[in-house]
Amino acid sequence: MASKYRIDLSNLALSPGEGRRLDGALAPEPVDLGGETYAAREPMEYRLEISRTSSGHAFHLQAEATLAGPCMRCLADAAVGVEIDAREVDQPGGGDEELSSPYVEGGQLDVGAWIHDALILAAPARLLCRDDCAGLCAVCGASLNDADPAEHRHAEPEGPFAGLGDLLNQ
Ligand SMILES: [Zn+2]
Ligand SMILES: [Zn+2]
Repeated sequence: MASKYRIDLSNLALSPGEGRRLDGALAPEPVDLGGETYAAREPMEYRLEISRTSSGHAFHLQAEATLAGPCMRCLADAAVGVEIDAREVDQPGGGDEELSSPYVEGGQLDVGAWIHDALILAAPARLLCRDDCAGLCAVCGASLNDADPAEHRHAEPEGPFAGLGDLLNQ
């Protein structure tokens, strides 16, 4: 998905071997993780190094972001810091070393699309409000983070669903 944050590489007018460092900030599109939506706090600052190669460009992207959204276990507000350190090479027509980056099109680097994808790769597999989030009670749905586990008990269930709560808690 193309973003509006594009850098025109020809404007940099780099000769082979030359490089340029760009510091910028942008508002990346929210990312989808495990069916929930997480937004990076804005403005998100980044550092981009662009080097001209013999037949294209090499890119190094570094950024830090805070992703905020629902805890994947208890749904309370959660926010985690993520670090991006990614590289891309784009040298069309480079013979044996032909490489193309999905973020370069028409001589423009789409740094917004790259950061969006890099946020997904950098995000933790389970984004939690805290490392030891206790999750929700399988019986009543209350957050067990707010409850003393020793206090939060339900009467022993009876009938065909007896033991289901224990099963869900595993
Ligand atoms: Zn949680
Ligand atoms: Zn409960």
